[in-house]
Amino acid sequence: MAETAIINEEEKKLILKAYRALLGSIKSKMNAEDKINMRKAYEIAVEAHAKQRRKSGEPYILHPIEVARICAEEMGLGPTAIVAALLHDVVEDSDFTLKEIESSFGEKIAGIVDGLTKLDGAYDVESPQAENFKKVLSTLIYDVRVVLIKMADRLHNMRTLGSMPRHKQLKIAAETSYIYAPLAHRLGLYNVKTEFQDLVMKINEPEIYQELAQKLQDTKIERNEYIDDFIQPLVTDLDKLNIKYRINGRPKSISSIFNKIKKKGVPFEEIYDLYAVRIIIDIEPEKEKSICWQVYSVVTDVHQPIPERLKDWVTTPKSNGYESLHTTVVGPKGRFVEVQIRSERMDEIAERGFAAHWKYKEVKNQQDMYDTWLDSIREILDTQHTDAIEFLNDFKTNLFNEEVYVYTPNGDLKILPKGATALDFAFNIHSDVGYHCTAVKVNNKLVPMGAKLNNGDQVTVITKKSQKPNEGWLKMVVTGKAKSKIRSAMKEEHRLVGSIGKETLQRKLKNMKLDFEENVDFIASQLNFNNRFDLYFAISTEQVNVTESLKAFRIEGNKLYVKEEEKKEEIVKEVVKPKKKVSTKSQILVNGESADQYGYSLAGCCNPVQGDDIFAYLSANSGLKVHRTNCPNATHLMANFGYRIMKAEWTNQTNRDFVVDLIITGIDDGPGVIERVTGKISSEMGINIRSFSISGKQGYFEGKISLHVLNKDQLELVIRNLKTTNGISNVTRVDRY
Ligand code: MN
Repeated sequence: MAETAIINEEEKKLILKAYRALLGSIKSKMNAEDKINMRKAYEIAVEAHAKQRRKSGEPYILHPIEVARICAEEMGLGPTAIVAALLHDVVEDSDFTLKEIESSFGEKIAGIVDGLTKLDGAYDVESPQAENFKKVLSTLIYDVRVVLIKMADRLHNMRTLGSMPRHKQLKIAAETSYIYAPLAHRLGLYNVKTEFQDLVMKINEPEIYQELAQKLQDTKIERNEYIDDFIQPLVTDLDKLNIKYRINGRPKSISSIFNKIKKKGVPFEEIYDLYAVRIIIDIEPEKEKSICWQVYSVVTDVHQPIPERLKDWVTTPKSNGYESLHTTVVGPKGRFVEVQIRSERMDEIAERGFAAHWKYKEVKNQQDMYDTWLDSIREILDTQHTDAIEFLNDFKTNLFNEEVYVYTPNGDLKILPKGATALDFAFNIHSDVGYHCTAVKVNNKLVPMGAKLNNGDQVTVITKKSQKPNEGWLKMVVTGKAKSKIRSAMKEEHRLVGSIGKETLQRKLKNMKLDFEENVDFIASQLNFNNRFDLYFAISTEQVNVTESLKAFRIEGNKLYVKEEEKKEEIVKEVVKPKKKVSTKSQILVNGESADQYGYSLAGCCNPVQGDDIFAYLSANSGLKVHRTNCPNATHLMANFGYRIMKAEWTNQTNRDFVVDLIITGIDDGPGVIERVTGKISSEMGINIRSFSISGKQGYFEGKISLHVLNKDQLELVIRNLKTTNGISNVTRVDRY
């Protein structure tokens, strides 16, 4: 934050204009008191940020105003949240205290601002981000609005990320895709989620992003004509239903198109289901369901449906509240088009998620879904985790995933996260059922306890009093509840076994006339145990011999000390160790300095080559690893260990080559392919092939080729050349996992 410049006249106008736009978007929801609060909040924020500017140079105050506008317009939040959004950086950046905010605005707003301030304070570069995420998620149960405002804040920061240095952009993008996008999805904010994913892609894959955006732009007119052709025949029949409706078509998001391209391995031109057509019906809640199905019937009379693509979230809404009837049909020219049918109410919930959910609390079972979800967050927050990363994993598998719907023998519906097993089901019924589970029947057939459940399964648990959990069970469950119950049962078991070891140690120390409490923790730590309980357990299971082990100590008074001569040499864990490298001059700079001094290596998961966009990761015991920024592991590393990420870039040195793997697929026309490929690469281009394997079945082949290339330009040239080779339909660079 630059301590400069009084805001000039032009900027003053800009600020006022932004504030008026904000007022315009929320006016209808405000009463007299709200209006006073709003004005006060605006004035406080203007004063608090008077001397600050954003990285981009614009007055800082524009940021909180814009965040408040996103909350109002794009998330549909009310006055309380808007006032808190205006104040969200005030305590952090000025002398205003929380107390002052509380006396001006009351407890509720002060509470939300407090939550937001704590989240910002948590952004200490040295602390693992998992801790910060835990804080973010903890605020959910205090007031969901804290997280919603935090998301608006993140959205505005992502939209204006251009002025940040590249490595910071990458880190912020990683956090966004790791936590904020799934959270937006879970809270039903589909537009926000989609924009997060697009903005993340824009940073991680800038070239492909621009290319796809351009292609969408270029095909816009043709696409609109197509949508018109698709809709036209529907309109006549829909009008006969005598209902109020609107219908529109739009392209899918750039990131979802990119995912399709990656998943199917086909170019943009061959992705046909680029469109979604939405039919939104204005109808009272009681008739929603039957009208949706009538519309479905009209659509599928005109366009041939693909039965397996029918999704009915009208009868059983998603657990984030989403309701809609989806089908994919074959439109003109044989292209696939997704059709989404829903009521205005469902549409508002789909667009605004949690915020709209309050408005429709009376309708059907809306409220239960979020309440159940918030309860399960409480459960996970209350669970003991060994560290924040374990917590985060539990959180992600349990609360972000899709779910499976299964039934008890009585026909009661149970909703579990996708991937949940038979044993998870047992613990979901009751922890005692879990503890004593000996066998499980799914649809009347015995299955292993770790078997994954599918939608519609009917599950019967068979128990036996003598059964108890063991270590192996942890691998058979995914739900936080089952895991924590098994862990605490294991701890109890550990404690019981350990009690024998404890007695042995107590006896021994008593014989040596030593005080137990004074010495036990010292012994445990000297023998490299995490705590005294692990030491007890090791003694019980005879991994440690007390008499032998105590020989390393001497007695002074009634305390033990480590004998000097036997004092273990302290192991200096040298994280970064200079190593000799093949090349003499460095090809990589880390934080602007030669990477050679760190002993770096190229990560095997993504095999970067010179010219790739890269970053360096300081690993715990193997020095610096250089990854591609689009490495499949990058998001995880940057989101969890941002403090170990260093900026890395290539120099112009060219004194080595790089190994890359390519997968090529095509139509099998015998051994000719191999000759053509090797001919192209080694004879024509003079590039060394390290290995080449090919396998084919029924007129189709897949080959894996490993090459030595000098840099990214050369690699791209190879890929381009191969793509135009006869019989080859696709070439992709692969990441090894
Ligand atoms: Mn902010």
